[in-house]
Amino acid sequence: MPVQPLGIHHVTAVASDPQRNVDFYATTLGMRLVKQTVNFDAPDTYHLYYGDAQGTPGSVLTFFPWPGVPRGRRGTGQATVMSVSIPQGSLGWWRERLSRLGVDVSDPVSRMDEEALSFHDPDGLVIELVAHADAPQIAPWEHSPVPPEHQVRGFHSVTMSERSLDPTAELFTDMMGFGLVDEAEGRYRFDVGEGGPGRRVDVLAEPDAPQGLVAAGTIHHVAFRAPDDDTEAAWREQIAGRGVDVTPIIDRNYFHSIYFREPGGVLLEIATDPPGFTVDEPLLELGRSLRLPPWLEPRREQIAAALPELKLPDEPDDPYARREDGPRGGGVA
Ligand code: ZN
Repeated sequence: MPVQPLGIHHVTAVASDPQRNVDFYATTLGMRLVKQTVNFDAPDTYHLYYGDAQGTPGSVLTFFPWPGVPRGRRGTGQATVMSVSIPQGSLGWWRERLSRLGVDVSDPVSRMDEEALSFHDPDGLVIELVAHADAPQIAPWEHSPVPPEHQVRGFHSVTMSERSLDPTAELFTDMMGFGLVDEAEGRYRFDVGEGGPGRRVDVLAEPDAPQGLVAAGTIHHVAFRAPDDDTEAAWREQIAGRGVDVTPIIDRNYFHSIYFREPGGVLLEIATDPPGFTVDEPLLELGRSLRLPPWLEPRREQIAAALPELKLPDEPDDPYARREDGPRGGGVA
């Protein structure tokens, strides 16, 4: 079965302060915090997930907030820009909102028939809001400070910087079923499946750029969607069969994942759509309290004690959140 992901599943980046991360993504950008858990490989630190109201694959942005971690460096061998879709008429609205909230936002730039705003998150991660007519429908988040008509609509694309285009282009086209669909000013656009927003990777050939260093404000990895476990297992065999060093299938509780590096050095993941974020809490309560995978649950007390308390955005209409003994007042405890 040839490897051909359905599109981008999630993007994971490194942050420093977890509270500042929540404030920016849940309040400034108005995304839903859909999961509060820990880094399964380093359970003394958070892993925070943001997305649309349901955490639909393709809308999910995740962070490892490591307090005190130094800033990384954008450069080659790295995914350097995360681009998110917004409706075509929302560019001015977002520019005004971001400016009013003190975010240093660029003038709109035109690129490949689209317009984009660019800015940095509090750790320096480059984010683009790309306005276009076919911004996908998502599950709007009713408690977002951003009105549904302007809410972000999942990933548009990820931009990768590479010292050399060819080996990376070959991996995306020959092994992962992408096709080159556009090219302008050193930017090579690869689409998979039907193409379009959420099924797109841009590769910049930047032979003179410094090598990237993954730390705060940089993207840790990019995950693509597999529809189910059987397909992922078949794809893993394909990838391994090409001599690529790929991990076994790893249980990430909300999806099952394999990881490998493309030739330029960017860490890629293929993650299954199921089981999703409602596997361990109901849809209405996503993200309101600390969730742990079964194998870490026995250590909950110790893990929770080591994590800084998070103040979550208010959800005034949520009866669960109004409960005096609910998780809001107590943060992660
Ligand atoms: Zn991941």
